[in-house]
Amino acid sequence: MKAAPFAYVRPGTTADVVAELSRDGSKVIAGGQSLVPVLAMRLGRPTQLVDINAVPELRQLARDDGSLRVGATVRQRQLQREEIGAAVPLVRLALPWVGHREIRSRGTVCGSIAHADPSAELPAVAACLEATMVLTGGRGTRQVAAADFFTGALSTVIEPDELLSEVIFPVAKPGDGFGFGEFARRHGDFALAGVAVRVRTSGESVDARLTCFGVSDVPVSVDVSPHLRSALQMTGPQPSRADLVSALAEHTEEVAEDVVSTGGDSHASPAYRRRLISALAAREVSRAYVSARLSRPEERS
Ligand SMILES: Cc1cc2nc3c(=O)[nH]c(=O)nc-3n(C[C@H](O)[C@H](O)[C@H](O)COP(=O)(O)OP(=O)(O)OC[C@H]3O[C@@H](n4cnc5c(N)ncnc54)[C@H](O)[C@@H]3O)c2cc1C
Repeated sequence: MKAAPFAYVRPGTTADVVAELSRDGSKVIAGGQSLVPVLAMRLGRPTQLVDINAVPELRQLARDDGSLRVGATVRQRQLQREEIGAAVPLVRLALPWVGHREIRSRGTVCGSIAHADPSAELPAVAACLEATMVLTGGRGTRQVAAADFFTGALSTVIEPDELLSEVIFPVAKPGDGFGFGEFARRHGDFALAGVAVRVRTSGESVDARLTCFGVSDVPVSVDVSPHLRSALQMTGPQPSRADLVSALAEHTEEVAEDVVSTGGDSHASPAYRRRLISALAAREVSRAYVSARLSRPEERS
């Protein structure tokens, strides 16, 4: 099958992109790694593709004031390879799981987040880190918190005449630690279930945020600080990873029970997905806690 006919434009400024998007039936094309298969299978029939790759300001990848700003045409592989990407370690942990190298070379960070596949890694990372989405449209620019951005499977608050012009990720601080894990049948496949974790430690305090994906229409975030604190009461504050995984496993089954809301499919039943989330959450919260502790200045000296 071939794509249905469409017009193609390649504007040179954000203002012209927005003007083109206001025409009925228009759609952004960035890396094309999700959109082109959709067109080829005629799952979507936009009348016009608006190619955003000729807009210089959308290539921005910059650090400012505790944030990493990732413009709409920044490739996934750029964040994986360029030094600046190390400022957001959770993105670096997740990217090797996104398809294959060739796909990451074309696919954009913003495109993956705008596409909002429930099994995709980067939307979960954005939700876990509480990233900010910058949307630019005919009525100006607005910022949307990740928690309010995803509205359903392949669905977000982006209006038809709006562009996700950048994503702002908070830069990691000393005392922060991260974990990421997923299970897929083959490497490069979309995950059956996965987790992204951020742990923050400061003095005696410890907070943990778990985001699960592949188990609901949208990434599901849970504050698992009480679970981590209770596990640490059993193990003491400097546990081995194995001991902490065992102590956390007492709690993660209950968490998995609450977050899995997908029906079964030909790949996995809801019960199997709950077991995956429980095991992945115990392992990755533990990993994130140990790396958070090791990133503290007093641990390094
Ligand atoms: C074989 C294969 C395996 C893959 N495996 C994975 C995987 O394991 N995990 C994973 O997460 N992804 C996977 N992908 C998808 C890949 O990561 C895509 O790159 C990504 O989902 C979309 O990015 P893109 O830049 O290619 O977007 P495009 O394909 O260009 O666009 C995707 C959608 O988002 C919209 N869009 C894109 N950019 C913007 C923007 N800035 N503002 C508003 N709307 C926008 C488009 O209109 C379109 O609807 C896979 C793809 C292939 C072909």
